[in-house]
Amino acid sequence: MKFSSISGNSQKLDGGAMYGNAPQALWSRWSPPDERNRIDMTTRGLLVETAEHKVLFETGIGAYMEPRFKDRFGVKEAHHVLLESLGKLDLTHEDITAVVLSHLHFDHAGGLMSEWREGKEAELLFPNATFYVGRDAWDRACNPHPRDRASFVPDLTQLLEASGRLKLVTPDDVLHFDDLEVHFHVSNGHTPGMLVSDLRDGQSRIIFAADLIPGRPWVHLPITMGYDRYPERLIDEKTELLESVVADNAWLVYTHDANCAASPVVFDPAKKKYAAGEGMAAFSRVSVLEAS
Ligand SMILES: [Zn+2]
Repeated sequence: MKFSSISGNSQKLDGGAMYGNAPQALWSRWSPPDERNRIDMTTRGLLVETAEHKVLFETGIGAYMEPRFKDRFGVKEAHHVLLESLGKLDLTHEDITAVVLSHLHFDHAGGLMSEWREGKEAELLFPNATFYVGRDAWDRACNPHPRDRASFVPDLTQLLEASGRLKLVTPDDVLHFDDLEVHFHVSNGHTPGMLVSDLRDGQSRIIFAADLIPGRPWVHLPITMGYDRYPERLIDEKTELLESVVADNAWLVYTHDANCAASPVVFDPAKKKYAAGEGMAAFSRVSVLEAS
């Protein structure tokens, strides 16, 4: 079994919005802002290849947006970077057998769509994949709130439904792909029913942290995003997850950290502080069980 982080399109968002109530004097040390006060981010996925399955956790923002929106969200590449990254592993989107989506905000699900072309409608990619989405996150995408209505990809829910390959899951479901088990942690602090995937290969745990912990600075408990609905609830959810991450020496995969794909977490009991341990710019691991 092989785990690989998959680079997706880059993104720039307002630093203040990304760091919630943290003052700029603090967050600018972690994420130096540009002249428009935006910070560098990425939208990264995680691929797990088992004997029979190729499972992709999220697709990043992709390249479906027309140029003026790409500019607004700081997407600098015109092409679909995630597809290019799959190509470096000799794969295409047609090889992917499952896509697991934490929620359907555009910076996580936009990569399901084909690249923007003048006068051409975007199409749903991944023709051979089953799409797994949490039931509550799905309901939210179908009935958005005014506060996050602009965060969803136009027509995506209709295309997923029409594919006949959409599977709605609940937090108690466990997915099995050969020896890979995928458990879920539900988080309602960012958006209703976001599912954080907890991957187990029989020996270790790798957590695709989605927007619960989008990058290393957010491992620090009080740091939340301005986009979160309920920051205090999110902090409680994060605390619960991090306790078990540290206990099991699990790794977190970060979808939005521009410079670090994954890291373990360290806890300082004296200060009661969590922090990201030494991470990897690109994450790759072959499961010891199958490799031996
Ligand atoms: Zn996000």
